[in-house]
Amino acid sequence: MTLWFDSREILINGQWRRTADTLGLEDPSTGETWGEIPRGLTSDIDEAVAAAEAALHGAWGRMPAFERGRLLARIGQMILARADELAQIEARDVGKPLKQAKADAIAMARYMEFYAGACDKFHGETIPFLDGYTVYTLREPHGVTGHIIPWNYPMQILGRSVGAALAMGNACVLKPAEEACLTALAFGRIAQEAGMPEGALNIVPGLGEEAGAALSAHSGIHHISFTGSVGVGQLIQSAAARNVVPVTLELGGKSPQLVFEDADLDKALPFLVNAGIQNAGQTCSASSRILVHRSKYAEVVERMAARYAGLKVGPALADLDVGPVISARQKEIIEGMLALSGDLTIAARGQVVEDAPKGGFYVAPTLMADVAAHHRLAQDEIFGPAQVVISFDDDDHAVAIANGTQYGLVAGVWTENGGRQMRMAKRLRAGQVFLNNYGAAGGVELPFGGVGKSGHGREKGFEALYGFSVLKTVAAHHG
Ligand code: NAD
Repeated sequence: MTLWFDSREILINGQWRRTADTLGLEDPSTGETWGEIPRGLTSDIDEAVAAAEAALHGAWGRMPAFERGRLLARIGQMILARADELAQIEARDVGKPLKQAKADAIAMARYMEFYAGACDKFHGETIPFLDGYTVYTLREPHGVTGHIIPWNYPMQILGRSVGAALAMGNACVLKPAEEACLTALAFGRIAQEAGMPEGALNIVPGLGEEAGAALSAHSGIHHISFTGSVGVGQLIQSAAARNVVPVTLELGGKSPQLVFEDADLDKALPFLVNAGIQNAGQTCSASSRILVHRSKYAEVVERMAARYAGLKVGPALADLDVGPVISARQKEIIEGMLALSGDLTIAARGQVVEDAPKGGFYVAPTLMADVAAHHRLAQDEIFGPAQVVISFDDDDHAVAIANGTQYGLVAGVWTENGGRQMRMAKRLRAGQVFLNNYGAAGGVELPFGGVGKSGHGREKGFEALYGFSVLKTVAAHHG
């Protein structure tokens, strides 16, 4: 694959340039290194933050809200026009099947469209007050926003985070993941071609402990948005605390789907399985725990197992059900976790296709049954193509298991009983509850975020605009 841009260049102040050092670009489907990406250092981050600050006082800072909207809309259209090409790049970089990568490209365009339309519709208000006063509020950008994103959904997470921040007039410094940064660099090219003013968007890939740490600790940023692991999220929050800046954390999960005795299983089954194996299970909102009422347990396990047995795992560009995981290290971590399944029933495994390249990072999807709710595999994020199925006796039991982890990202509920749907929506400890679906088709309009160790703050939807702006109160006394 030939890229239409130089993958070794970073974007600072509207200029593309190389860094002093590079990192290898690995193809998870083959394990081969096929290029280089930049290794951004503290000095690069310093420059990017300075460029962003300058942009706030330049053309970007002066751009009317509706013009920002037009710019984002143009970017959205250009992404759509190149969606196939972006999908090819993402598939190769992340290892995700082409269809899934294409959906991500379209989602990135949708974020641009959504936030384009929001730019000039998000505003302050007037507040009735004492005689002789006029009080109103202004919605202003934070200033320079830092964005640290992971490798699992680079396009989607960039879209939701950077899209909302730009819509509010912030100037962004983006640090994509070292494992997959190509579509972020492609996004930078597209944004520039669309007319992004210099310094409004700066992109510096690099190692987490170098470029990422430098960005999160930088005294010149005014907000940080992080998506990734709990451990790094804790570091980011500490760094933000030292600078006293707000932080949005989108972390991990151990999200359940609850299948009640009156569930429509034909409808539920594709969601039960897909939510566990999509992107090889490397999804923060993956549904890695399936909780089933005892009366339906055997049937659900059997039907899920039949689907698992038919799952084909292979290279991203072959566009099968499941691609490789991101890296040799990630494969080792997942296999280490799955080695804890000795006391469990392996209900079924998917198949790695015979002609899959030997060096690729393939993991056979694994469905585990008869799992106790407190088992490590039912508590800790696996971040691979694996699910556990747990039985429950009644509604209270189901809620206790569902809420019984340190996380609280997503919960899915399958029941035809309307009253139970409403009760579950209230009782489940999660940032989003999906009733008779899972994921609501990834809609960009739906606010998203966690409770507990899954993080705090909300991205996506209109709600994100609150997080990426700051409210100023103006009180005028005029007698
Ligand atoms: P990670 O935390 O290792 O890396 C994420 C990003 O943080 C990368 O860009 C990395 O370079 C950077 N980073 C690493 N160390 C850093 C440091 N010391 N300082 C600053 N930045 C640093 O996460 P990962 O393993 O790449 O991603 C998997 C995790 O992300 C999972 O736990 C998953 O659940 C979570 N995730 C959450 C969401 C969500 O929206 N809640 C979405 C995707 C992934």
